[in-house]
Order: sequence, then structure tokens, then C-alpha cells
Amino acid sequence: MTDPTDENDILLKLDEVEDCPRCSGPSWLKARFAHSWKNARGETVSGVREALLCSACDRGWQTADELLALFARDDRLNAANLETFGGLVAAWVESVRHQRVDEDLLNEQRTSVEL
Ligand SMILES: [Zn+2]
Repeated sequence: MTDPTDENDILLKLDEVEDCPRCSGPSWLKARFAHSWKNARGETVSGVREALLCSACDRGWQTADELLALFARDDRLNAANLETFGGLVAAWVESVRHQRVDEDLLNEQRTSVEL
């Protein structure tokens, strides 16, 4: 897969996606997206992150549930559901992005408490 060029660019892989690293079960899709954040010194750091959608591990998470429901219903992508799919993927990636940022913030807070 190539690298995404900017923050709004989401690259998806739907075929031959590797197994979920959390439960070793099959993943539905893999998304690669550009991501930038501020480090402790206030510098902007950019990188590329990947997220796998797993029906076992991601269940119960609203944006993932909506995507999984679409896969369960439609089996494959076609012209009729492509637009819905695009919107759901964008929402899911956005929630992945924010969840990980929150985790980073929590880690920073924990570090400062230990000091
Ligand atoms: Zn899993």
C-alpha cells in the first residue's frame, strides 16, 4: 500500500487483509491514514497509522458496529452501497484517530502524576 498524502486521505484495503493482531481472527478491512499530533515540546509530528476492523474486537463501538452491520447485510461493495460505506469508513477512522489521541493524552497525564 502507498502512503496517504494528507489528513483527509484514507487508504483502504479490503482483500487479503492480515488477521487481527488482537484476537488472530479475520479482519474486514485495513485503513491507512495520515495523522499528526503535538509532542510534549509542542512540535507537530506527522506519521501514518493503520487500523484493522475486526468483528470480534471492535464490536460495541458505535462507528465500527455500523460498518460491521453493512458488511453483514451487503456482503460486498457495489455502486448502491459505496457512498454509505465511504461515510461509515470516514466516521470510523475519525473515531480511531480520536481514541488513540485520548490514549496518548492519558499516558502523558499518568507520566506527569508519577513525577
Ligand atoms: Zn480481533
